[in-house]
Amino acid sequence: MALRIRIAQILISEELRKGGIRAPVHLALGHEWVAVDVVGAMGPGDKILLSHRNVAYHLVKRSLASVLHEYRSGRFGSMNMIDPDSGIVYTSSILANQFPVACGVALSDNAAGSGATTFVVAGDGAIEEGAFYESLMFAAKHELPIVFVVEDNGWSMSSPVCSRRLDVDIDELCFQIGGEVCVQDYRSRCPSRPVFVGDGLRFPHVWHMKVNTYGSKGHHYHHGPIDIDIDPEYPVLCGAERKLWSREDSRRILNELRGEIG
Ligand SMILES: [Mg+2]
Repeated sequence: MALRIRIAQILISEELRKGGIRAPVHLALGHEWVAVDVVGAMGPGDKILLSHRNVAYHLVKRSLASVLHEYRSGRFGSMNMIDPDSGIVYTSSILANQFPVACGVALSDNAAGSGATTFVVAGDGAIEEGAFYESLMFAAKHELPIVFVVEDNGWSMSSPVCSRRLDVDIDELCFQIGGEVCVQDYRSRCPSRPVFVGDGLRFPHVWHMKVNTYGSKGHHYHHGPIDIDIDPEYPVLCGAERKLWSREDSRRILNELRGEIG
């Protein structure tokens, strides 16, 4: 699944280059495994709130054709694309805005007794906003069933953590506020599917996902058509993943996706 999402993003980039998409698209190269695992942890009725970099989650939940259709139609642009039927109820183009909104969603579900869990995803840049800490404290105070997912690649745009702030022990800080912290390291291994939500764990959960991303021309993030200096049939993947995914797999998925979008 993660390989399919990687190749789908390369095809989206191709479409951008051809001028078929007029809205900016924020790709999520290197975040694919996280999206697969988080969506895999969601149960029926659970909801998820995302940032502007939401494409990988949409591609886990939906077909490439439907995602491209929305990009082409420009209904929500890309930063605010939602799909309530699949549980993607909110995406934010404002940094960290999704955290307090997630608290509202979880509070509402809690009051209704739905039993649903709310997932909210952001990068390590967004946790520098006060909204992250305030939302975490609010969720802990009200015992809201929220999972805060932090995709931590150590970069915010082109700025590394060390140029932005003092080093913060995110895990200890979240634990002290009242969160149950789970750390997953995606940087040097191909992760097995983790079991995050266990009986007896206290909410809110904080899932600290350490990831590598792959830059292009020195940029770690992408805001439009990108120069991926790679063969679409053999996308660049991190160490262990490369061993698992053959050129034949890549070619088969590429052909399937090209057939899907016509
Ligand atoms: Mg980051």
